[in-house]
Amino acid sequence: MKKLNIVLFGPPGAGKGTQSTFLIERYGLVHLSTGDLLRAEIKAESPLGIQAKELMDQGDLVPDEVVIGMIRNKMEAHLDAKGFIFDGFPRTKAQAEALDGMLNGKGEPIVAMLALEVPEKELVKRLIGRGATSGRADDKDEAVISNRIREYEAKTAPLKDYYGAQGKYKALDGVGTVEDITARLVKAIG
Ligand code: AMP
Repeated sequence: MKKLNIVLFGPPGAGKGTQSTFLIERYGLVHLSTGDLLRAEIKAESPLGIQAKELMDQGDLVPDEVVIGMIRNKMEAHLDAKGFIFDGFPRTKAQAEALDGMLNGKGEPIVAMLALEVPEKELVKRLIGRGATSGRADDKDEAVISNRIREYEAKTAPLKDYYGAQGKYKALDGVGTVEDITARLVKAIG
């Protein structure tokens, strides 16, 4: 059976993590969040985590090789998955190309890139709100939040064209209740 490999796309605060939890349950998928994987490394105080923390605390991206390696390891640990939800990955063209290389080689390509669209003002509001409870250092400081949004615009948003060229890019309104947005995603997955 064809694997349901989906890129859940959008700027920081778009709701990718929240929506992933619904989609993995509904479709029996494996959730691959590079942000979560990196935070686990930080918690474990591994050399990789210590290196990544400095960049993450500033809102900068960590190097492509680091996140690509993490994704490769996780995919190899779940060879029998019905599919993957990629959340917060890929974030650069080099990451997208590496992912295509890994998946296309196995005949299990990305089937869709679902992009949650949220205006910047709303993103900042959500991230500040999350920072009050999440304990995430990068959700507390407005300068860091702005930098994350700038990194997204400069390096990540161009991936809409990358997946668009493959006929896989679908934009969705990311404003509304959590349930509304889940329903839009389910409809888009079809
Ligand atoms: P997230 O939880 O997806 O918002 O990611 C938090 C932080 O982890 C980002 O601001 C980056 O510093 C880092 N990060 C997560 N995923 C990636 C990725 N695919 N490429 C580079 N850096 C990443």
